[in-house]
Amino acid sequence: MSSSVLLRHTLITVLPALLVLNGCASGQTAAREEAALASELAPARKPQWGIVIHGGAGTIRRESLTPEREAEVRAKLTEALQAGHAILTRGGSSLDAVSAAIRILEDSPLFNAGKGAVFTHDGRNELDAAIMDGKTLNAGAVAGMHHVKNPIELARKVMEKSPHVMMVGEGAEAFAKQEGLELVPAEYFRTEERWQQLQRALEKEKASPAQPPSSAGLAATGDDKFGTVGAVALDQAGNLAAGTSTGGLTNKRYGRVGDSPIIGAGTYANPRCAVSATGHGEYFIRFTVAHDICARLEYLDLPLQEAANSLVMEVLVKAGGEGGVIAMDAHGNVAMSFNSPGMYRGSMGQDGAPHVAIFRE
Ligand code: ASP
Repeated sequence: MSSSVLLRHTLITVLPALLVLNGCASGQTAAREEAALASELAPARKPQWGIVIHGGAGTIRRESLTPEREAEVRAKLTEALQAGHAILTRGGSSLDAVSAAIRILEDSPLFNAGKGAVFTHDGRNELDAAIMDGKTLNAGAVAGMHHVKNPIELARKVMEKSPHVMMVGEGAEAFAKQEGLELVPAEYFRTEERWQQLQRALEKEKASPAQPPSSAGLAATGDDKFGTVGAVALDQAGNLAAGTSTGGLTNKRYGRVGDSPIIGAGTYANPRCAVSATGHGEYFIRFTVAHDICARLEYLDLPLQEAANSLVMEVLVKAGGEGGVIAMDAHGNVAMSFNSPGMYRGSMGQDGAPHVAIFRE
């Protein structure tokens, strides 16, 4: 044993005993000091960088997903992971990795973001997105977009090229134009599948008009899959980022904004923790889910998975809020928690192996 190792060993084993013997600390305080000392002396563990994504949570059951559709979803999630991972591998930022992964999912009609977004009550696609830089707490968010092809890119522009955090509607689209982002005709976002989903939701609503507007057209239409997309990442420099993009909820009232673009509700990142959520947005807003997970990590010292579960499996379940989250902490720990039957999700760490899952495996 070298003398420094011997010294560490002596300090770790003897110091707490001395503290207790001397009566200068309670047993609990001594144990805490022991843990603090041990972690101070332990060789610093290098954070495991990587990326985690989701493609929405909800009633995704094996029997309702054809093998072809499942293969398509898995392939697209893998492609998004690889795009983000490639950026992280070459030392790129977590913000770039998050944007790249989300962009791919926005361009795919398989998910409820960008092309393939769900329809509002009046038959339009209205898109929301947000991105947040954990290192600086800078954030950008947009809501109510009808023509911006990739809302996540506009959220990034709001963060980097404006003094604001959130922009909505026509003003945000004018800003997109000014920044040279790609604008598309409203029909670009339309898919027949989503249109039919709206028709079923409208019929359902007509049959039982007493439903609260926030859940109208979801449960019992068989269409209560959310399909929002999101990503969190930790880069080699140790910085976290989070982003989320969505069309919102089928049959939402025009002008309704969900949790995805609300910083602290559906999207949040700080130097220790990054979260992106999917699910019934009204609940995620009320319980400021994304921020609360990070707060529990920080104030209660909970491990990431426990912090995520306490919100998703306890607080939200009790309130009746369906959905899930993906999260990463600054050590590279990953958490994916959902209280719905399924959540499209995936992760890729330093080893570059994609892990994609849909059901509660
Ligand atoms: N959270 C989104 C919203 O309420 C929907 C979703 O996750 O699919 O707008």
